[in-house]
Amino acid sequence: MKDCNCIFCKIANGEIPSATLYENDEFRVILDLNPASKGHSLVLPKDHYANLFEIPEDVLGRAAAVAKRVSTKLADGLHASGLNLVQNNGERAGQTVFHFHMHMIPRYESDNMKMSWIPGKLTDEDKDEILSLFS
Ligand code: AMP
Ligand code: ZN
Repeated sequence: MKDCNCIFCKIANGEIPSATLYENDEFRVILDLNPASKGHSLVLPKDHYANLFEIPEDVLGRAAAVAKRVSTKLADGLHASGLNLVQNNGERAGQTVFHFHMHMIPRYESDNMKMSWIPGKLTDEDKDEILSLFS
């Protein structure tokens, strides 16, 4: 399941060189080319899935396990004081490469990064609508 026009398919499968931190038969972990912080890295599956909605649950589970292992090593080795695990789906959510990936972004006391939103208020109407989806 490769998409021959997809840059992350090419990187994940070694057709385009990358700064690789970890690789197994299913995933490649690379340094982001435009890092938000020192150590910003990406977990890429070698098979092509556009986003969270396409990736099978078992593959996602193994991707999360890889992210945990690499995040731990990055955070320890770079003496980070925190780490954001970020995963964007769809243009509106900030996705720019439409091949599933997880961002690992180490955080430092002195970083200028912002990952914020304005907290809203949960309305009864929204709560009922959303809860009804799961009942
Ligand atoms: P997203 O906005 O969630 O789709 O994230 C895409 C990420 O891929 C961005 O952080 C880019 O900096 C990164 N990126 C794009 N092209 C490359 C590349 N050739 N090698 C490494 N990282 C890349
Ligand atoms: Zn792809």
